[in-house]
Amino acid sequence: MKKQLTLFVFIVGTTLLRAADDKVFINGVEGYTNTPMLPNSQWHVHDPNRAQPVIVTPGTTFSAQATPPSDAIVLFNGTDLSGWTDLKGQPAPWEIVDGAMVAKKSDIRTKQEFGDIQLHVEFCEPVPAVDSGQGRGNSGVFFMGKFELQVLDCYGSKTYPDGQTAALYGQHPPLVNACRPPGEWQTYDAVFTAPRFTDSGDLKSPAWITVFHNGVVVQNHQAYLGPTGHKIFPKYAPMPATGPLALQFHNNPTKFRNIWVRPILPPDEP
Ligand code: MG
Repeated sequence: MKKQLTLFVFIVGTTLLRAADDKVFINGVEGYTNTPMLPNSQWHVHDPNRAQPVIVTPGTTFSAQATPPSDAIVLFNGTDLSGWTDLKGQPAPWEIVDGAMVAKKSDIRTKQEFGDIQLHVEFCEPVPAVDSGQGRGNSGVFFMGKFELQVLDCYGSKTYPDGQTAALYGQHPPLVNACRPPGEWQTYDAVFTAPRFTDSGDLKSPAWITVFHNGVVVQNHQAYLGPTGHKIFPKYAPMPATGPLALQFHNNPTKFRNIWVRPILPPDEP
């Protein structure tokens, strides 16, 4: 019995070790080189060899007194989480501190569902900064609960480019790195277009996104290759026309505030 237990522990331990060892460091940048190749590209998913996005210091466009436009749907106004649940529909377990929601315990999602939207969200990375790479201030905004716009603290911290701040995680790095230091409020303003499918379930058009990070364009009408995944090449499959906006809990107490959306009427489609 003891021998069987020892063997079991050895097998489990070996598996975990191998999983951890998948990650490599190249010139101090974490990543993976045993993952699928991204299409029309020389890079693996999460490739650490990819060039790091150029650092741009954002201007002072951000205003702490920012208010939503008159027709916005306010998803978090600093006082309650009544519009949110965890992914099982239970009350959202995040905390509210000084008008901000603080990531805790699990991902959360809106009760309302959306397709095409304009989004504004503000986030603040933990201070003091701890850990590095994907362990530093990791969270994320998931459109339709499926398509992640990465939230990470990449101020003076490197990771694989397709996983850094404002990346379409595992798919497309940001055009530049426009991070503010941890402890300072930052903004994402995005226009998201939901994917379209034919009646027979074939992909008609992918999800598209344009993103400004602290007022700097970081994604310019970029297509998602499919729903977000880790270490995989994603593929589209038919999905509902709308889904919730979700925020990720990734073991870091990232803060969010002033979250609003404006649903965009779909264009006339042939
Ligand atoms: Mg994330």
